Amino acid sequence: MEHQQTARILVAGTGPAGLIAALGFAAEGFPVTLVGPEATAPDGRTTALMNPALKVLDRLGVLEVVKSKAAPLKVMRIVDATSRLIRSPVVTFRASEIDEDQFGLNLPNSVLNPALASAVAAHAGVEWQRSMVANWRLDVEHARAVLADGSTVDASLAVAADGRLSPARQAAGISTSARSYPQAALVLNFGHSGDHTFTSTEFHTETGPFTQVPLSGNRSSLVWVVKPETATDLAALDDATLSQRIEQQMQSMLGRVTVEPGRQIYPLSAVTPLRFARDRVALVGEAAHVFPPIGAQGLNLGIRDVDDLIGIACENRTDPGAAKALAAYDFKRRPDILARSSAVNLLNMSLLSDMLPAQMARVAGLGVLGGFAPLRAFFMREGLRPGSGFAALAGGLGKQVRR
Ligand SMILES: Cc1cc2nc3c(=O)[nH]c(=O)nc-3n(C[C@H](O)[C@H](O)[C@H](O)COP(=O)(O)OP(=O)(O)OC[C@H]3O[C@@H](n4cnc5c(N)ncnc54)[C@H](O)[C@@H]3O)c2cc1C
Repeated sequence: MEHQQTARILVAGTGPAGLIAALGFAAEGFPVTLVGPEATAPDGRTTALMNPALKVLDRLGVLEVVKSKAAPLKVMRIVDATSRLIRSPVVTFRASEIDEDQFGLNLPNSVLNPALASAVAAHAGVEWQRSMVANWRLDVEHARAVLADGSTVDASLAVAADGRLSPARQAAGISTSARSYPQAALVLNFGHSGDHTFTSTEFHTETGPFTQVPLSGNRSSLVWVVKPETATDLAALDDATLSQRIEQQMQSMLGRVTVEPGRQIYPLSAVTPLRFARDRVALVGEAAHVFPPIGAQGLNLGIRDVDDLIGIACENRTDPGAAKALAAYDFKRRPDILARSSAVNLLNMSLLSDMLPAQMARVAGLGVLGGFAPLRAFFMREGLRPGSGFAALAGGLGKQVRR
């Protein structure tokens, strides 16, 4: 093992979290072995990344490559489109209210993921084994991955970026609480005759959110959460009928809609591990948290996992997988991951629930947010960088009281 100086890091998984982890560790001078296949299946989804996540991509030299294909997110709106008795007013978040030019960028995964993969392939500090981990051997001294071809990789720390089913998580004996929702997301991109003015609108409906996010040009991406059978029915419609259904759902807000080729369906679920590191394995990305795609949280949170893990590893260079480093990682990530996961899960369940108290809590929450500028600014800052909202809240509240 390379314990004397900077120890080897093994990253398992080549989704965005794994690729970012490999690049980030290599940038800090760690020797990295990345294990996972090169992506071959097309991914028509887009990912809204907020400014702090973009800073990480910038540090890794990837932002410059992708930003010309992205659309800025300047305004985010939540519209209560339920037909329930109690409905909340429209809540609008403007980046300008918190002195930002944009909340972030919406990036096609077909741009982001290949750009990350190219950067990894070009980095001399990353050895990429285009294979799968077939087996894990984890002990006090090191993590050993046995690859599909029988070869082995030893490391001080194994970064589990191997997705929602995370074989590394299982090998480390980390149990999870999991639930599946009676929902699926229909995902596609569409063109529209009107201008989106860089506004994303999330319509809350009884089956889940219908979220339009701007793309470059007069185009947007859509994540439409419905019952699984409805998702299948919608995906089977011809282009003209589906375009019309989407236009109706948005109350023609963006004019004529024309769906682009490519429709994907994602069943929704939630997975929360009981701990985030153990036995030389640290969980990042969907290995550490799965929840419904509401409010563009998933990869933003995943990038914070990676950033915190690298920070802790830099303080424990000779043995970043040691029990004390893993305990520090678990302690650091727990509040952020649990807060985001439970907020998204609660919001989703309150949409689905027919129970009046759940409806009232959701509506009261959104109503207060909509009407009270400092609180709205607080949530916007918290969305951008957990913790920064607290510092700004006191000042904002003071202003509101003096008005
Ligand atoms: C519809 C939808 C919209 C979304 N929109 C947003 C958004 O706007 N903003 C946002 O921040 N997030 C969003 N997300 C969440 C985001 O997509 C996920 O957080 C992100 O894709 C998770 O990436 P990951 O690398 O953790 O996992 P994955 O992409 O699942 O990657 C896991 C990788 O591990 C590999 N692997 C598995 N087993 C092994 C093994 N044994 N050995 C080696 N490799 C292995 C797999 O091949 C895969 O490459 C959205 C999600 C959905 C479903």
